[in-house]
Amino acid sequence: MNVGVLANQPVTVLKGVGAALEQKLQKLDILTLQDLLFHLPLRYQDRTRIMPIGSLRPGDEGVIEGEVKGADIVMGRRRSLMVRLQDGTGTISLRFFHFSAAQKNNLKPGVHLRCFGEIRTGASGLEIYHPEYRRVDDTVITPVEESLTPIYPTTEGLNQTRLRALTDAALKYLEAGSLTELIPDHLRQQWQLPPLNDAVSYLHRPPVDADQDQLLDGYHPAQRRLAFEELLAHHLSLQKLRNKTRQQGAPLMQGDGRYCQLFLQQLPFPLTNAQQRVAAEIGKDLSQPFPMLRLVQGDVGSGKTVVAALAALQAVEGGFQAAVMAPTEILAEQHFINFSNWLEPLGLKVAWLAGKLKGKKRQAQLEQIISGEAQVVVGTHALFQDEVSFANLGLVVVDEQHRFGVHQRLALREKGRTDQRSPHQLIMTATPIPRTLTMSAYADLDCSIIDELPPGRTPVNTVVISDQRRAEVVQRVRDACVQGRQVYWVCTLIEESEALQCQAAEVTAEELKEALSELRIGLVHGRMKPTEKAAIMASYKAAELDLLVATTVIEVGVDVPNASVMIIENPERLGLAQLHQLRGRVGRGSVESFCLLMYHAPLSQQGRERLSVMRETTDGFRIAEKDLELRGPGEVLGTRQTGMMAFKVADLQRDSDLLTRVKQVAGQIAADSQLTDAIIQRWLGRDEQYATV
Ligand code: ADP
Ligand code: MG
Repeated sequence: MNVGVLANQPVTVLKGVGAALEQKLQKLDILTLQDLLFHLPLRYQDRTRIMPIGSLRPGDEGVIEGEVKGADIVMGRRRSLMVRLQDGTGTISLRFFHFSAAQKNNLKPGVHLRCFGEIRTGASGLEIYHPEYRRVDDTVITPVEESLTPIYPTTEGLNQTRLRALTDAALKYLEAGSLTELIPDHLRQQWQLPPLNDAVSYLHRPPVDADQDQLLDGYHPAQRRLAFEELLAHHLSLQKLRNKTRQQGAPLMQGDGRYCQLFLQQLPFPLTNAQQRVAAEIGKDLSQPFPMLRLVQGDVGSGKTVVAALAALQAVEGGFQAAVMAPTEILAEQHFINFSNWLEPLGLKVAWLAGKLKGKKRQAQLEQIISGEAQVVVGTHALFQDEVSFANLGLVVVDEQHRFGVHQRLALREKGRTDQRSPHQLIMTATPIPRTLTMSAYADLDCSIIDELPPGRTPVNTVVISDQRRAEVVQRVRDACVQGRQVYWVCTLIEESEALQCQAAEVTAEELKEALSELRIGLVHGRMKPTEKAAIMASYKAAELDLLVATTVIEVGVDVPNASVMIIENPERLGLAQLHQLRGRVGRGSVESFCLLMYHAPLSQQGRERLSVMRETTDGFRIAEKDLELRGPGEVLGTRQTGMMAFKVADLQRDSDLLTRVKQVAGQIAADSQLTDAIIQRWLGRDEQYATV
């Protein structure tokens, strides 16, 4: 399909674009005129009006104009030049950390300036650091900008002025030629989407009468038009991936039920209805001739492991191996213990593989895996290294999928793949994914939800308490431990640095050992050796420790039913999903459990809101929706690392209402593979990574 001439015109056709500039543009993924035209402003500055100084708030950005009242060098923490500027409504300071003597001399009292910059609160009240400024003549009216000023995403050595000039030139080409409209006319009309060319030129140079608020918020029809097409491209790409997988054959696992039945008989509890339903959905998938791709969402403690075991047993009944992968060694080990306890009585062999397993022992496990002696293999991502070969891998179970990036998810499909077939895949997550996100980020997966907790659980009581009452909290820990309960004490830090976080936990552990000298206190953090960590966890689980001080490493999956109190320090620093995961470590036994969220005052508005959500509900799905609302999809999915949902225009939160339509349109054009490929190509282009598997 012809994606329009502009898609084939290299940027070098523009005047002044030589090799150096071409390289810089390449860094922005701009190779063609079409790329340049799709390189849309991140935001706009409003330089169309002059704001009264008296009306400014920190965080505002805008044009001001006033008279210099004084310019002084102040010493403070850094030497700086402070220029006081006044209009009829108020005064503001312009602060320069770098300045010349000539500059200072030019900013004499009485001079009129027009400035642009971001307003912040400084030592002297409202300030602008290094504003753009120029002298103006107060006797004539100097015109302001006539349209919103676009601010483009850029790279080193390429400034906004240059990018504006380049897009100006590209827009000239657009007037003469065109970008190919990829959404068929009748669908565009049906959904009231403006033509592509109009939308693109509008967004580069919004006219004077543009609805600026709408544009700044990203709700303009032109933006929505492009967001729509982009979401459509992502959707189609995941769909394509899904179809590709479906075309592959899969191991047939018509299980005869012999192991599953024995397993269920020996379980000390009956399955919940939700577990039965999901197990049946999986069972059906496994008996299909194409690979299962199913995401099981179930709140913490909903009993996903049993469901995974049933799937593994069906694979074994069909004569295949099953691999179960967990994101951390602690968790993998726990699964290994569970699976061994469950499956060995059935006469099955479970192998174990993790990074820490070395030498002969590792060799022995590897041999069991390749010979097929072990029917089920549990481990960390060590399972998917080159040295590991399976005899007959038929099912891959990935637990706690959030910790694995999308790319890892796709890489897994490769393991155990032969010419004829690809293994079934089951992904389990305890972090509920809001529906809007499943519709987009996970459109290639089928979804099951375990929406019921096993009976007999008492919901965790959550208390929000200031750290000024730390002494009371410590007393409460003592009381609980004296009664034979076990307690988690979780330390958090806002810094990304794991080292600092571990340090903080070490300090806290020392303090608590002093304050609670009669208790047995342990410490785990991410910088300890896996063997050390495992040893501490094991003795906590065996109730040889009363209190476990930890960083957020314990967030995922650890199961110690006797632990019924959790203290979380500075919970305001964590996302809701993470808090929910942490809290899920208690409330696993039959005694009443408590979670104390010990915040550091003052709380921000958002912090307060988050903590009260935690107090009000233990429903993981509600918490996930709220998390999405408060933090946005990038944070919720953790896609920063995976780089997956890097949208150019769309914003899943803002544009979530488009998704239903996107899905419909995707259905309407699905049959036209040339068209769908062109749409995918335009938006995901050269790095259509996750559609190539
Ligand atoms: P998660 O979904 O968080 O992975 P687990 O699979 O670890 O949950 O199960 C949590 C606990 O609940 C385990 O101790 C497990 O044995 C128990 N459990 C699972 N299913 C049931 C059930 N149907 N009835 C009672 N207890 C159950
Ligand atoms: Mg689990």
